[in-house]
Amino acid sequence: MRKVVFGIDLGGTHIKAGIVDRGGEVLKHTVAPTLAGQGREALLARLCAIIADFRAYSASAGLLPAGIGVGTAGYVEPLKGRVAYATPNLPGWTGLQLREALEQASALPVAVANDAHAMAVGEAWLGAGRPYRDFICVTLGTGVGGARVIDGAPDYGSSGFAGGFGHMVIAWGGRPCNCGLSGCYEQYASVTALLRLASEAGLRGEALPDGAKSIFALASAGHPAASAIIAQYAEYTAVGLINLAHSLNPQAIVLGGAVTTQGDALLEPIRRIVRERAMPIYRDTPIVAAALGNAAGEVGAAKLAWNRLSSG
Ligand SMILES: [Zn+2]
Repeated sequence: MRKVVFGIDLGGTHIKAGIVDRGGEVLKHTVAPTLAGQGREALLARLCAIIADFRAYSASAGLLPAGIGVGTAGYVEPLKGRVAYATPNLPGWTGLQLREALEQASALPVAVANDAHAMAVGEAWLGAGRPYRDFICVTLGTGVGGARVIDGAPDYGSSGFAGGFGHMVIAWGGRPCNCGLSGCYEQYASVTALLRLASEAGLRGEALPDGAKSIFALASAGHPAASAIIAQYAEYTAVGLINLAHSLNPQAIVLGGAVTTQGDALLEPIRRIVRERAMPIYRDTPIVAAALGNAAGEVGAAKLAWNRLSSG
């Protein structure tokens, strides 16, 4: 029988999951709402229901489930598979022994990581990170997350919490952040921040039927305020990338998150600012868009499951 693993990407709003083979092919994919407000037990039950569905599908399709990988929002101790801290977006998740809970429920080996770490592993395995031995991934979404990947594996740091790029302070005394600091990078480079810039310029509601996408559509149609917003957002985003290039000297920077599907309309101004302002020895760090889109998290989680199996 063909061995497979289940890769699960648990975000604040959606759970994306796939049955993934050894080569990274997604044989079945599903999406479910997280409904985190219903609490820890309900969310664990929802994960178990997805696993049960995948099991049933595998049995009917002649597939042999060998393990599970989970990338979850929150700060994870990867060796223990424990969520050390999750924001109130996932009530009850802080302190959860997620690996243990899912191993008991499924009787399969489980690997658990932070969702941005999992996404970066996906990009390293089959996406934009493939050509690079050492790169960083920065995800621009509701917040800003990330990971450094070396030889295909995330750099977890001493406890598992490395990659908190969104909470680098880039503006001392700047905008208050939900982490308790002020001036954090994600207050300037997240999509939330992009939409706030637009709102401050009078672009909101009906002017942006597709949210951030509409800002790019307006700019390409010659709307000067929209172009100015993107220029400002690119500048903020570039400042953080310059900090990361200076401190980590990666071979490349992979930008993820739905906004990066705008491609060069966003990436070119960012690249230009990095070229102009980074120290000369760092200026040519390639900045590329993530390639796996929405699937990166579940594919990366699956890869972590495969890695756990091959390491015994
Ligand atoms: Zn912060």
